[in-house]
Amino acid sequence: MSTAIVVGAGIGGVAAAVALQRRGWQVTVLERARELGEVGAGISVWPSAVAVLEELGVKGVEKASVQSKPAGIRRPDGRWMVGAPELGVELPVMIHRAQLHDLLTAEFGPAITVRTGYDVRTVTQDADGVTVNDELRAELLVAADGIRSAVRGALYPQYKGPRYSGFTAYRGIANVDIDDGGGETWGRGQLFGAARLIDGRFYWYATANQAPGTTSEPTVFESWHDPIPQLIAGSEQILHNDVYDLTLPLVPFARGRIALLGDAAHAMTPNLGRGACSAIEDAGALGRHLGAVQGGKDLPAALMAYDAERRPATTKLVKRSRALGRLAQTENRLLSTTRDAVVALGGKLLALRRK
Ligand SMILES: Cc1cc2nc3c(=O)[nH]c(=O)nc-3n(C[C@H](O)[C@H](O)[C@H](O)COP(=O)(O)OP(=O)(O)OC[C@H]3O[C@@H](n4cnc5c(N)ncnc54)[C@H](O)[C@@H]3O)c2cc1C
Repeated sequence: MSTAIVVGAGIGGVAAAVALQRRGWQVTVLERARELGEVGAGISVWPSAVAVLEELGVKGVEKASVQSKPAGIRRPDGRWMVGAPELGVELPVMIHRAQLHDLLTAEFGPAITVRTGYDVRTVTQDADGVTVNDELRAELLVAADGIRSAVRGALYPQYKGPRYSGFTAYRGIANVDIDDGGGETWGRGQLFGAARLIDGRFYWYATANQAPGTTSEPTVFESWHDPIPQLIAGSEQILHNDVYDLTLPLVPFARGRIALLGDAAHAMTPNLGRGACSAIEDAGALGRHLGAVQGGKDLPAALMAYDAERRPATTKLVKRSRALGRLAQTENRLLSTTRDAVVALGGKLLALRRK
């Protein structure tokens, strides 16, 4: 049986392990954290990623998620820029991150071994395989070790890596009984979004322009329309992350017997809600390309085919997400007024087209 090491057990790493297992690989997952799991936040999963989860045999996504309904975009005072029925576009399902992670790990069979509390410090490769920390060996290594990937750093020491987006993100899950359809609210330099989860709680996220490392929480959202203040107040825990994406051009996702996957390969700003979805799609593609590998002989070629499929697609998403982030976070009065007018007009045109 062919052997693989997956570094990192975030959504990308566990999806990769499931995809490799399905293709008959023996997989060791190495995770630095002491326990497997995901943070307390929601996540949007787009139809293309749901399709990959189905292909991978991951069960229960439908039951654990809510199909997003068109929710529209509001101004901070609550006036609608684009109303709910006007969008008429394909929408994701919303799911709790921990639930998605659990659904993936529930597929782990005897071919997958997990070692938590394991920090990958060195990776070397030769013609036959890859060695981790001078002690573990496999024919393939998948680096799913996140935006600050040590494996990527070892492969491409000249690459600049993460780039600060200019804004920070807050996320929470509110246990409140509120009759609201959710959606986004765009201000100048700040944005707020909310969506209901399957258990009735609300997942919300907020972004604000500020220097990286700033710890004080912005108070601006307290004066925004209802139910934003209630959602923030009703959350037990608020996650805070400065938002980075990866410098373009992205580095190749394959080098010899090592593949980069997920944020390690193409971390993007969260504006499109596609980072984890792309990691899942990477896993599906990797499994497909490696399915054709016999006796390890064609492995580097299979990884190059994986890179050729996934790097252009995710480069586009990194660019689009960055552009949307700039637009959504603009503090310029003229630009934000024009943006709001264009979005409102776009909504009306979409509505007309649907009629
Ligand atoms: C505010 C916000 C909202 C988002 N919303 C969405 C959304 O709605 N939809 C969506 O699709 N995406 C979303 N994303 C993006 C998504 O969160 C990421 O793209 C995704 O979680 C990346 O998964 P990953 O497995 O590649 O990396 P990570 O989740 O970063 O996992 C990497 C893992 O590797 C481990 N690790 C790191 N280094 C080592 C090492 N040396 N040895 C061993 N283990 C190591 C880490 O402990 C970690 O568990 C959002 C991101 C943010 C910041």
